[in-house]
Amino acid sequence: MGARKEHCEFKTEIKQLMDIIVNSLYSSREVFLRELISNASDALDKLRFKAQTEPEIMGDDTDLKIRIIPDKEKRTLEIADNGIGMTWDEVAENIGTVAKSGTSAFLQAVEQAKKQDAIISPELIGQFGVGFYSAFIVADKVTLITKAAGSDQAVKWESDGQGGYTLEEAHREGRGTSVILHLKEVEEGEADFTDQWVIKDVVKRHSDFVSYPIVMDMEIEEPIPEKERVLDKDGKPIGPTTRKVVKEEVLNSMKAIWTRDPKEVSEEEYKEFYTHISHDWNEPLTWLHKRFEGVTEYSVLLYIPSVAPFDLFNPEGKFGINLYCRRVFIMDDCRELIPEYLRFVKGVIDAPDINLNVSREILQQDRLVTAIRKNVTKQILKLLADLDQEKYEKFYKEFAPVLKTGVHTDGENRDKIAELLRYRTTKSGDKLISLKEYVDNMKEGQEFIYYITGENLKALANSPHLELLKEKDYEVLLMTDPIDEWVVDSLPEYQGKKLKSAEKGELGIEEKEQQDDTEFKGLIAYLKEQLSDRVKEVRTSKRLKSSLACLTGDIWDMSAYMEKILRASGQKVPENKRVLEVNISHPLMQKMLEMYKQDKKNEKLADYAALVYDIAVISEGGKIDNPSRFNTLIGELAAS
Ligand code: ADP
Repeated sequence: MGARKEHCEFKTEIKQLMDIIVNSLYSSREVFLRELISNASDALDKLRFKAQTEPEIMGDDTDLKIRIIPDKEKRTLEIADNGIGMTWDEVAENIGTVAKSGTSAFLQAVEQAKKQDAIISPELIGQFGVGFYSAFIVADKVTLITKAAGSDQAVKWESDGQGGYTLEEAHREGRGTSVILHLKEVEEGEADFTDQWVIKDVVKRHSDFVSYPIVMDMEIEEPIPEKERVLDKDGKPIGPTTRKVVKEEVLNSMKAIWTRDPKEVSEEEYKEFYTHISHDWNEPLTWLHKRFEGVTEYSVLLYIPSVAPFDLFNPEGKFGINLYCRRVFIMDDCRELIPEYLRFVKGVIDAPDINLNVSREILQQDRLVTAIRKNVTKQILKLLADLDQEKYEKFYKEFAPVLKTGVHTDGENRDKIAELLRYRTTKSGDKLISLKEYVDNMKEGQEFIYYITGENLKALANSPHLELLKEKDYEVLLMTDPIDEWVVDSLPEYQGKKLKSAEKGELGIEEKEQQDDTEFKGLIAYLKEQLSDRVKEVRTSKRLKSSLACLTGDIWDMSAYMEKILRASGQKVPENKRVLEVNISHPLMQKMLEMYKQDKKNEKLADYAALVYDIAVISEGGKIDNPSRFNTLIGELAAS
C-alpha cells in the first residue's frame, strides 16, 4: 500500500498574503527566525500543558528544546522542536491553507495603506502575526516534517510558496516538528543564515526570552591541553595550540525578566520582551513591573499596547495575560486574572501559590485569583491615570470603547474609570476633557452635568436641543461612541453631580415663568393629531431658542441614538415614539397659527405640520420620508 500523498493549491488570499510578506519584509527578513522559534516555543508550551493531565504524552523525551541546524553545503536551515507536533489534519488546517482569522483584516489594512500611499511597514504586518509564512522571505522551498504527540505517523508538508503545496506521510524519529528552509541565494553583503554567528546574533536579539533552550552546534576553537599536544624530541609541545571542536551551545538566556529587579532591566529588554509575548511589533505605550506581597506573593509585568489589535472587538479574541508559576508557563489567555474591559493589557503574572490542579471555572472562584485580579485591576487603572496627557490620549483613541464597558461592569471601580473618561464638549473644540475638568468649569448655579449622545459630532454640537443650555453658557458633553449610552446609563453621577441628557426630559433650568401658550393650544392639539403615527406628544418647547422644532424623549425613554445602535445590531426594538417640541416664537409657528385660526381644514396646514416634523428629524441628522415634499415646501416658504 502506497503512502498517502496529496497536492493542494493555495487559496488566492494566502498567495496575496505571502506576496506582501515576502516583498515588504525583505528589509527586516531576519524576523522569520523569531516567528519560527516562537511557533516552536508555542508547540512546547502546548505539550507541557497537555502533559499536566496526560503525562504519558511526554514519554522519555522530557528535555524540551528548540534546535537550530544550519547546513552551509546544502544551504538549508532547520528549526526543530520536540513539542506537540501536528497530525495530518492539523497540518492541512494550520499551514498555508485555511485563511487565518486575521488574513482578510490584514489584506484590508494593506489595501488601505496602499490607497493612502503609505508604506507597508513591518509594524503593520507584525500586528497581524505573519507566523509561518515569513519562512518564504528567505527560502524558496520549505519542508515541514511533523509528528503529533501520541501519534506514530509523521507528515511532510512541502511548498515553494508559489502555487501550492504537497502533503504526504513521512518518517520522523520522535515527536515534534522540523521546519527546513531551502535558503535563497544571498547577495554580496547580505546576512547568510547558514552562518552560525549570524544565527547566534539574531536569536540573541529577537528570541532571548524564549523559555526553552534554543540550541545549536557551534564550531569553536578551544585550546589543546598540553598533554594532548604533539611533542618534539625534547618533549616540548609543538604544532597548533588550538583545535576546532563542535559543541552544543545554548543561544538564549531564557531570562524571566519579570523575576528580576526592575532597576536591573533595561528599557530595550522590556520592549524586546513585549514583542516576544505580544507578537506586536509596535512599541508598548507603557508597562508596569512589580512584585506584590500580601495574601499571596506574585510578580507582574504588564504592558499597555500603543496600537489596538485588529481583533480588539472580536468576542473570541484572546486576553493578553499569560500565567506563570515559578517561571514555568501555565497558560495564555488567562481571563481569570483580569476583567474583560482590560483585556488589551498584555503581560505576565507569575503566581507561585496558585492551585493548578483545578479547572478554569474553579480557578475563577479561587481566593488567590480573586485577590490578584482585584489588585491588578487597581494597578492598571492607576497606571492609566498616571500617564501623561499625550500618551493617555493615544491610549484613549485606541482603547476607550473597551475601557468604557468597565463603567457598566465594574461597580467597584466605577469612580476610578469615570476619572479616565474623556469627551469633546460644546466648548472644548478638538480637545478631550475629563469629567473633573467639566465639573471645574461648571457655571455658578449649574446643578447638572449635561450630555447629548449621537453619531455625528458636528450635528451634536449644533443640535437645537442645546439652545437653552448655550444661552446659559453651560457646557455639554458630546458623546459619539455607542458605548457611551451604557456609560451614562451606569454612571448616574460624578462627584455628586447628576448626569442629565440634553434631549430627554426637563433640563432643570427652564424659566419658572412659562411662556403663555394658551393661544397655541388648538394648533398643538392639531399637530398632535396630524402626526399621531410618528410622535406620542407635541409640546411647546422650553429648550429651543431660535430653531423651529426638535424631537425629545421623556426621561425614561430610550435615546434616539440608543435605538439606532440596537437596530443596527439586529435587535428588535419596540417602537419608541418621541415628543415633538415646537418653538412658538418661531415665525413659521406664528404663520401656522394664523392659518389655523382662519381655516383648520386648509391642506397647506397639514403639509406644514409634516414639515415641522421633518425639520426636527433633519436637525438631529436623521432621514426624512418624503424629501421632495420637503423640498417644495421649503422653497415655497423661502419665496413667500
Ligand atoms: P500563528 O502562530 O500566528 O497561529 P502560524 O502561521 O505561525 O500562525 O502558524 C499556524 C499554526 O500552525 C499555529 O497556530 C500552530 O497550530 C501550527 N504550528 C506552526 N508551527 C508549529 C510547530 N512548530 N509545532 C506545532 N504546530 C505548529
